[in-house]
Amino acid sequence: MSEEKRTSLNFVEQIIEEHNASDRFGQKVHTRFPPEPNGYLHIGHAKSIYTNFSLAKKYGGKTNLRFDDTNPVTEDTEYVESIQEDIKWLGFDWEDRLFFASDYFEQLYTYALDLIKKGKAYVDDSTAEEIAALKGTPTRPGEPSPYRSRTIEENLDLFERMRKGEFEEGSKVLRAKIDMSSPNMLLRDPVLYRIKFAAHHRTGDKWCIYPMYDMAHGYSDSIEGITHSVCTLEFENHRPLYDWLIDAVGIHHPQQIEFSRLNPSYMITSKRKLRQLVEEGHLTGWNDPRMPTISGLRRRGYTPESICNFAEKTGLTKRDGITDVLLLEDCVRQHLNKITPRMMAVLSPLKITITNYPEDKVEMMEVVNNPEDESAGTRELPFSNKLYIETTDFMEDPPRKYFRLAPGKVVRLKGAYIIQCDEVIKDDAGEIIELKCSYIENSKSGEDTSGVKAKGTIHWVSVPHAEEVEVRLYDRLFTDPTPGNHKDEDGNPIDFKTFLNPESLQVIKAQVEPSLQNARPLDKFQFMRKGYFCLDPDSTSEHLIFNRTVTLRDSWAKKTKK
Ligand code: ATP
Ligand code: MG
Repeated sequence: MSEEKRTSLNFVEQIIEEHNASDRFGQKVHTRFPPEPNGYLHIGHAKSIYTNFSLAKKYGGKTNLRFDDTNPVTEDTEYVESIQEDIKWLGFDWEDRLFFASDYFEQLYTYALDLIKKGKAYVDDSTAEEIAALKGTPTRPGEPSPYRSRTIEENLDLFERMRKGEFEEGSKVLRAKIDMSSPNMLLRDPVLYRIKFAAHHRTGDKWCIYPMYDMAHGYSDSIEGITHSVCTLEFENHRPLYDWLIDAVGIHHPQQIEFSRLNPSYMITSKRKLRQLVEEGHLTGWNDPRMPTISGLRRRGYTPESICNFAEKTGLTKRDGITDVLLLEDCVRQHLNKITPRMMAVLSPLKITITNYPEDKVEMMEVVNNPEDESAGTRELPFSNKLYIETTDFMEDPPRKYFRLAPGKVVRLKGAYIIQCDEVIKDDAGEIIELKCSYIENSKSGEDTSGVKAKGTIHWVSVPHAEEVEVRLYDRLFTDPTPGNHKDEDGNPIDFKTFLNPESLQVIKAQVEPSLQNARPLDKFQFMRKGYFCLDPDSTSEHLIFNRTVTLRDSWAKKTKK
């Protein structure tokens, strides 16, 4: 490979091209995405999905979806379904290659018998505590179990009887016979099978012995003819074990390649911790729009394109680190900027009356849907003498260089007329409740011959035509960039929930333009000057709910400086 070509490839692609050059896998690239169905997929999984499917695509290969469902206790068909939905939504297709490690239980059992027959596995009657005690430490070698020298015949007999359910849970395990003094603790006779009288979500009560993840994982890759088994760095020291198990049986040997996990700042990417948030009621569910799950991001208004773009931009590396969540938010903004129509929505309404505009007149104003996309066309917006504007677009006593509305000042109403503020109406408590304004004739957008210069433009909604909706303003779920990584003075981990942001959700009522009545679930919009929003699937025609996907700019930078 030329040096030039090598540097334009990521390190996984370099390995693949070396294999192609040496013909190790007959020019084939076959990857897989192997989730454990014990929770919903999150943004980290999205990176793994993107990586596996796009590597195979680049080299004309295939990608399998395989559920690593070897633990009957934590797994559920709810997760099996949500995982498939999420992968499809991201835009990837495993075609007819949907597999379950549990489909290989019979095959894995024969591999176990083969290991026993070769003297490479034995049945151990020790308790979990006894096994742990003899395991040694990274600096002290382990010691052999008293059962390590059982004969092949005895092991075969006991293992077959384990399968038949003759022994109690916890009374026996099958262990690989590797090396009790290996510097790699995983090679110190790891447990391969345990007894569990638990029903499995697919195999029911057929089995009462279940292979450990480490037993099932590498073998499943081999059974499926996977060439490049791409996974995250924490499996680096499992690789020698998978290699040993595969070579001991003498079957197809995939190449495992590890890359660093994706850890976006202000997010948690651990199914276990995410489950805690759901089960303890900190959030409304796995698809709460504040969750870093794919289903949460989808409901929040993120697009598959922006998530894949983010996965691509973060690249493949061998070094663990934190990825700035701003990169993800920017990918989302970039895509939404291209695809969303600009809408008028007033989040904090202040009423104005245009005193010189006829009370019963309604004019339709033509506005451009998306300046970034001419094909999105235009729409009509009703204008009348009573409007809502944003409370923050008026200041009674403005600083110099304030270009929005103020007493005696003019401002352009987007797509409509220039108005001037003539009078401020207050209630008894001194709160501003209404503004009296006048509009400048001949100042209509696109046909302005008034000669009046307005430096600012603000959005608005006609009061009699406005739709009142619920708006959910979401913010980051955590106040700390690495909520899962903190320790107290004694070195004990600090509960990540300590860093939950109490202001991660603010619910308000807003007034929006009437065309938003036609929005369908998950339709996305830019509310002009306010951010990107998406119609929540829980909306009804009487009660529309919009989720804020992301602000127009990074509002967090300002906040944290305070
Ligand atoms: P979790 O810690 O959230 O339970 P996991 O690694 O146990 O994650 P699996 O269902 O076993 O979850 O993961 C399926 C695949 O997704 C694995 O190949 C794993 O390496 C990959 N993966 C999981 N989390 C990340 C992440 N943060 N970044 C990249 N890949 C990930
Ligand atoms: Mg896992």
